[in-house]
Amino acid sequence: MRSANPRMISLIRELRRMTQAELAEAAGIKQGYVSMIESGVRTVSEDTLTAIADAFDCPVDLLCQEAQIRGGEAQDLHFRRRKTLSITERRRVEGKLHLAYLTIRGMLQGIDYEPALTLPTLNLDDVESPVEAARIVRRLWRIPTGPIYSVTAYLEAAGVFLVPCNAPNKVDAVTRRCDEGWHVTAFNRGMPTDRERMTYSHELGHLVLHTGYSPDTEVEADQFAAEFLTPADEIRPSLVGLTTRDLGRLIDLRLVWKVSVPFLVRRAADLGAISERQQKSFYAMLNSRGLLYQTVDHRLPVEEPTQLRLIIDVHRTQHGYSLEDLANAALMTPPRFAKVFGVARSGGGPNLRLVGENQ
Ligand SMILES: [Zn+2]
Repeated sequence: MRSANPRMISLIRELRRMTQAELAEAAGIKQGYVSMIESGVRTVSEDTLTAIADAFDCPVDLLCQEAQIRGGEAQDLHFRRRKTLSITERRRVEGKLHLAYLTIRGMLQGIDYEPALTLPTLNLDDVESPVEAARIVRRLWRIPTGPIYSVTAYLEAAGVFLVPCNAPNKVDAVTRRCDEGWHVTAFNRGMPTDRERMTYSHELGHLVLHTGYSPDTEVEADQFAAEFLTPADEIRPSLVGLTTRDLGRLIDLRLVWKVSVPFLVRRAADLGAISERQQKSFYAMLNSRGLLYQTVDHRLPVEEPTQLRLIIDVHRTQHGYSLEDLANAALMTPPRFAKVFGVARSGGGPNLRLVGENQ
């Protein structure tokens, strides 16, 4: 008999936003029993386990996985957040990331997976600065001079799986460094488009630079991202001598470099191309025109992850996997898998789409 992991049961229950009483009711067992199961005092019979899995709309297998959830300030987990998260929100995001990890690990079984690009780990004691690290990565990956067409494509080629998830809007992304030679970044589906590229580059900065957590890691990842997206030598000439009368120029420049206008203003200040006072006037101006906190910038390219879709394709076309097989591998029920990955029940058509809503 498979044995349930009490911590996985409480994790999934929290992710499904159920109380112990609600789970008891849905699974037809007593609340006290749920509590004993979750604290590991009582073992779970196969029948009860199946009832619990049904209540969660997940396969029994998921409840038998290990639950080594990494904490937010653990060595290998990085949040890009805008505000402090509550403990509950953190637990949920960490839990979702763990499920994303389990799903990817399951889906990679039977796949000969090797990232096309090496993801270097650089130590700041050796490479001088995050800016230098970004230059090294651009060189190592032979990224051509100029703007990066798709940050997602580089991340995926380097073995970073990007998984959409519904998270509080305070979180843009969270990344887990894994031991398997690939890594997971869960990103918030609700993230404004003009933050996507900066967020992915920031997460890349963590993966390249950080095996530990320190108060400087966020700033370092931002510095890495800024240089990765807009190398100083290349963008400086467009920013020097800028005044608030040149807003139109910045609006055009954002399309060239595919970053937000506030990003460019900050970049100009960081590179010493404008003064701190000019930076403030720019921000005030952007704020008054509603350009400081845009949510959607339709003219910037959408960053679209494709790696998981390719893996699903390989399973379907080369391995002959059915929806049920795929769902099994991903540790989801077939309907949930179909919903998350947008996979139709029959045929191997091209309508595979990452629709998000991670578990
Ligand atoms: Zn971060």
